[in-house]
Amino acid sequence: MNLQRAIEDLFSAQKEKWPQLRDAVERLAQVRERSFLWGDDFRVRLQFNPSRMISAAARLESEEISRRPCFLCAANRPTLQRGIPFLEKYVILCNPFPILHNHLTIPLHSHVPQRIGKKTGEMLALAEQLPDYVVFYNGPACGASAPDHYHLQAGLKMTELLQGDHELRSCMMIESESRSEAEELFEDVYSYLRQRQPDREEPMINLIAFISGDRYHLHLFPRKAHRPRQYNETGSRQLLISPGALDMAGVMITVREEDFNKLEQHDIEDIYSQVSLPVM
Ligand SMILES: [Zn+2]
Repeated sequence: MNLQRAIEDLFSAQKEKWPQLRDAVERLAQVRERSFLWGDDFRVRLQFNPSRMISAAARLESEEISRRPCFLCAANRPTLQRGIPFLEKYVILCNPFPILHNHLTIPLHSHVPQRIGKKTGEMLALAEQLPDYVVFYNGPACGASAPDHYHLQAGLKMTELLQGDHELRSCMMIESESRSEAEELFEDVYSYLRQRQPDREEPMINLIAFISGDRYHLHLFPRKAHRPRQYNETGSRQLLISPGALDMAGVMITVREEDFNKLEQHDIEDIYSQVSLPVM
């Protein structure tokens, strides 16, 4: 059976047996959204998704992380959650806090830190089996809520998520007919970014992989900040926005209704300018 079909079946079975997932999928169907357009060139879809509060407000100091039980380790996952094995080292799980339709979390079995390293090939291999999906990676200081346990995510494609480079933020676009060539091109870009941020174990990045027209696509969003200044403001100046791959591509998540209502086009421009790293 092909993997996309197996995932559809997993969602059907999990919605039947696991009330938390069923409720989450129903809430996602009613989620409020606003669209922002910059001419015909690019757009941002703003989503009001209060169930993402846990992730947006996550405290990621290493002490906090080491104290909490890891929610991606098999022993601590919800008892009703089931999965599909992938490449004998990952498990494909339905995400009970979805942003996308058929939102998946794909952790490694082993509890190892969030580092992309040489794993873009595996990311592209997953994208290859899921042509209707985007597969994405959030660096440990770029939106990952479990920086201590390596994981990918995936969900059904939306046009906003496939947008490449534009004037509000950087996107380094890699495209090839060959998976290994796409991996090599990624290595080049990665070494360049390492030089730009030599003090970090991994340059700050978000990645989106997808297949289009039989070609492998990798969109790399280089970052210079984890969260915008407004995140740490107080009162009416605060905006609780903690950008990850989806936000960088064009689907921005707000977890508080006040932020969803008050956010303006210039706030989006400002947020991108603070967190995106200009290149070349
Ligand atoms: Zn873990």
